[in-house]
Formats: sequence, structure tokens, C-alpha cells
Amino acid sequence: MVSGGAGFIGSHLCDALLERGLAVLALDNFITGSPGNVKHIEASPDFELRQLDVNTGVFLDGDVRYVLHFASPASPPQYGANPIHTLKVGTVGTMNMLGLARAKGATFMLASTSEIYGDPLVHPQPESYWGNVNPIGPRGCYDEAKRCAEAYAMAYHRAHHVDTRIVRIFNTHGPRMQVSDGRAVPNFMAQAIRGEPITVYGDGAQTRSLCYVSDLVRGVLEWLDRGDELPVNLGNPEEVTVLELARTIIRLAGSRSEIVHGDLPEDDPKQRRPDIARAQRLIGWRPEVGLEDGLSRTLEYFRSVESA
Ligand code: UDP
Repeated sequence: MVSGGAGFIGSHLCDALLERGLAVLALDNFITGSPGNVKHIEASPDFELRQLDVNTGVFLDGDVRYVLHFASPASPPQYGANPIHTLKVGTVGTMNMLGLARAKGATFMLASTSEIYGDPLVHPQPESYWGNVNPIGPRGCYDEAKRCAEAYAMAYHRAHHVDTRIVRIFNTHGPRMQVSDGRAVPNFMAQAIRGEPITVYGDGAQTRSLCYVSDLVRGVLEWLDRGDELPVNLGNPEEVTVLELARTIIRLAGSRSEIVHGDLPEDDPKQRRPDIARAQRLIGWRPEVGLEDGLSRTLEYFRSVESA
């Protein structure tokens, strides 16, 4: 069972689980996910998509082996537009998913996030860092919900011995990201393709480290198989400034777009890069797709969407 199964990462996860020969039930309320993301697998006898809000409780017949909780708005403009829903899916939704996993004797996995580190004062970020989060800022609804979700997973593990996993997912990109989700990669790519100005917020000196979705999903499944209950970072340590990212996308797109600067959003993290030593040590995982290679693949997707 994959909550958020019609979302960007959730839908790629459904693909990978089907490839393993598993039967997949995807749940999604379509706030940010879309049935179009799983259209290519909807005819599969092993796949089912159900429109459902996991905050209302989920009761399923039959056996469930894995409960993978990937439902949540994840882009700052989207969780900013749905703050209460974002809080609920991280807290109530996580509790419901853990309850389901407990009832079924299933392994539970939480899609957590690098946002739990907030605007980090330690760089790169190891899992041992507790973070620097503003609970009452515009990102608080997402950051604190995910921190609470991690606390829930640990509590169910300790109190009820549920087999749990927590993956802290850093910035990820690839096909099926929403063009209009407001994040840097979709914005810059759509702007570059259309020849519109590229909107870099602030001076663009803030950094991010971008992972291609196939690397991420491979890490998620390897962690599901062989990880432990403590959080693990999954992301690509190749760090770039947002200005470098904008310039790279302009070059890869062969675009003439100019760069314009806008206001830096409140509490925008100044630097972000995963320390992936733990994933490397425990499951031998590291990303294989380089930044430009990954961006070229994502760009191809946005071109196909733009020309459709
Ligand atoms: N950003 C930008 N222009 C945009 C969208 C985002 O300069 O059109 C910046 C944003 O301020 C942040 C970085 O790009 O510093 C990454 O933002 P994104 O929304 O992709 O995700 P975040 O990592 O902040 O969750």
C-alpha cells in the first residue's frame, strides 16, 4: 500500500514495486497527486488506485506487507497553500498509517524530508543533526508535521514493535513533477523552455543538492529491505547554488531566457546537502545519475509536457 501513490515520487515507487512482482494499492486524495501519473499502470491486474484521504482512517481487507506513507504536499508553495492539510497528513495521517501497519503486521515506511533540518547550521547534514526549524514560520506546517511523523514512527516501533523505516528525502526531481508545483526545477525548466525570465529568489547563493528520482527510488527499496528503524538520508551530495542551477538549466535547454531576481521566501534554507555515509555503510547505496544527466532527463519530460 502506497499513500500518495499518484504523486511524483509515489508513482515511481508504485512502478518499482510492480516490477518486483508485488500487488500495489495506491491511495491518493489528488490534492497534489494526479491519476495521470499512474495511467500507464492502471490496466495492470496487480495495480489499484483508490481516491482516499488517509487522514480519515484506512481499513483494508486482506494481507498487507508494506505500508509506505508517501502522501503529503512537498513543495513550499503547495504546503503553504494547504497548511492544515499538510499538518494533518504528517500527524493524523501518519498515525493512521502506523495503525494499519500494526494491525496487518506490515513493515511501515515514512517518507520524511531534509526539511526536518530546517535552515541547517551543520553542513552537510548527518542524521544525527537535530535541525534548526522555525515552528511558526510558513514552512513550519511541513517541517513540524514531518518531525512529528518521525516521532510517531519511533513511538510505534518502541511501544508496539512495528517494523518501521524513516527515509529523509532530499530535493528530488524527474518526470511527473508538476510543472506548476512552484519548485526551482519545474519553474526553471518551464521558464527556459518558454523563453521566459528565470526567477531566481534572492541572490541565488543558497544551495541545494538534487537527486534524480530513479536513484531515490532504488535507495527507498533497498532501505525497505535492509534498513533499520533509525532515519536515513537519501539524496545526492552533489551541491549547487540556485544561481548555478538556473544557468545549467538555461544551457541544457539551449534557452535565451535571462535571469531575474525575486524576493527570497521567508526561512528559505541557505544550504542543503545530505551526508549519505549512513546509507552507504548500511545498504551500499549512492546515487549514480549525475546532476547534468538527471537534469537532461527531467528536461526531456518537461519538453514533452509543454508540447502536449
Ligand atoms: N527558487 C528560486 N526560484 C524559483 C523557485 C525556487 O530561486 O522559481 C529557490 C528557492 O528559494 C530555494 C531553492 O530554489 O532556495 C529550492 O527551492 P524549491 O522550491 O525547489 O525547494 P526547497 O528545497 O526550498 O524545498
